[in-house]
Amino acid sequence: MDNCLFCKIASRKIPSSIVYEDDDLLAFKDINPAAPVHLLIIPKMHIATLSEAEPAHHDVLGKMLALVPRLAHDHGIEVKYDAQGNPTGGFKTLINSGPDGGQEVYHLHLHLYGGPRPWRGQH
Ligand code: 5GP
Ligand code: ZN
Repeated sequence: MDNCLFCKIASRKIPSSIVYEDDDLLAFKDINPAAPVHLLIIPKMHIATLSEAEPAHHDVLGKMLALVPRLAHDHGIEVKYDAQGNPTGGFKTLINSGPDGGQEVYHLHLHLYGGPRPWRGQH
């Protein structure tokens, strides 16, 4: 899509801080982070919103979710367990869809937020 911001990021026409790339996905730092770690995971293929996801997209949708633990580990926000077995750390994932979902960029993206609280995107 010629006029899509995240397509331009995927094709390197617009610079971004890329943290992961493979044939299907790109992950980069959000320009206006709402948490100490705030990454966006996108499919390289243009899908405007989660409402437009079809069976043909199932693989790439699964890959987006499956990338989360790797990125969480790489950025030190994975869930760990202390000596008593209590969970520590952790992160939040979010997909905004459409105006009522608070979506601003119409290329599907998964937000990954984490880091010590409090932070803006925590709710
Ligand atoms: P949405 O509200 O659509 O779910 O989230 C869009 C996100 O994209 C926002 O968190 C916003 O800060 C981020 N964003 C908007 N423009 C750019 C940009 O040019 N570069 C990067 N890295 N992030 C952007
Ligand atoms: Zn796009």
